[in-house]
Amino acid sequence: MKVAVFNTKRYERPVLEKSADGFPIEFTFLEPRLDVQTALLAAGHEAVLIFVNDVANRSVLEQLAAGGTRFLATRSAGFNQIDRQAACELGITLAYVPAYSPNAVAEFTIGLILTLGRHIHEGHNRVRRADFNLEGLCGFELRDMTVGVCGTGRIGTEVVKLLSGFGCKILAYDEEPNEQVMLLASYVDTREELFRYSDILTLHVPLMPSTYHLIDNEALKLMKDGVFLINTSRGALIDTPAVVEGLKSRKVGFLAIDVYEEEACLFFEDHSSDIIRDDTFARLLTFPNVIVTGHQAFLTMHALRNIAETTMQSLDEFAKGFPCTHAVPAP
Ligand code: NAD
Repeated sequence: MKVAVFNTKRYERPVLEKSADGFPIEFTFLEPRLDVQTALLAAGHEAVLIFVNDVANRSVLEQLAAGGTRFLATRSAGFNQIDRQAACELGITLAYVPAYSPNAVAEFTIGLILTLGRHIHEGHNRVRRADFNLEGLCGFELRDMTVGVCGTGRIGTEVVKLLSGFGCKILAYDEEPNEQVMLLASYVDTREELFRYSDILTLHVPLMPSTYHLIDNEALKLMKDGVFLINTSRGALIDTPAVVEGLKSRKVGFLAIDVYEEEACLFFEDHSSDIIRDDTFARLLTFPNVIVTGHQAFLTMHALRNIAETTMQSLDEFAKGFPCTHAVPAP
């Protein structure tokens, strides 16, 4: 089977090739991301693999279908970039990787809290320029904090487990509370309660119409002054201009994000010689109490291997006409 792999990165290609050993698969590795201009590159490929910032809207899917594509898999846990209704109408089977490594993202989330809360990044920068002054580096201890976990699915649950080792008070909110979390955290009934009582708030819900701009002006008004926000889920959960205003007024005391609403034209590429045209993003980089990483929370060797193996399983099932174990849920 001919498989077009969009948005291929050097770090994942050998892992994909190794996991395809023994499968009758011929990869075409493509550097561009999938969009309406590049969809033609997939012509003649029965299967297409994409990643988080590829565009799989109706017009792209129509082009893929016209070129003979019958299967599309995203090498990610989120699938908000795919128009599932259009894929269904065009007869394109969809697969994803629901749980390649919740720990990878959960551990990164804890890393962001510790880094920003203890100014580790700033301490590192100072020592590299032989500045050993500790002014401004006073941090906080997690055991004094109430941490709110919004979304206790696979990743949120791992975050709760890791947090429980720090002795902090853990609050959680999810439309479907789970028993593992109940042993370690207290569920609140509404997300407004979570906003009101958390010193630190970390987001682990998927991006959907009901979670779009979950953190906006109204949500910020409910929060404690100096709240610490972390988003390792999807950028559009946060109304970034509202949070920038919150940082300016000190309503938001700390912000750590691995994802950004307009990340598609920035992340995963080297733009160090370019002019950044996104003023909101550029403003974020000026705050000393903000950390931004470029959607790297997933990136561990364990996760890359699981992504490749699960994707290969999905391709194999599709090739054999079996039901897809990791099918994207119907719209
Ligand atoms: P999951 O499906 O296991 O869990 C999501 C949880 O959110 C579920 O328990 C669900 O009940 C809950 N939920 C859904 N809508 C809600 C709402 N409106 N209010 C409250 N709770 C709600 O997903 P997961 O594997 O834990 O992943 C969470 C998200 O993390 C993914 O959707 C993806 O966008 C993101 N992610 C980011 C990275 C990264 O590298 N930064 C990597 C993997 C996943």
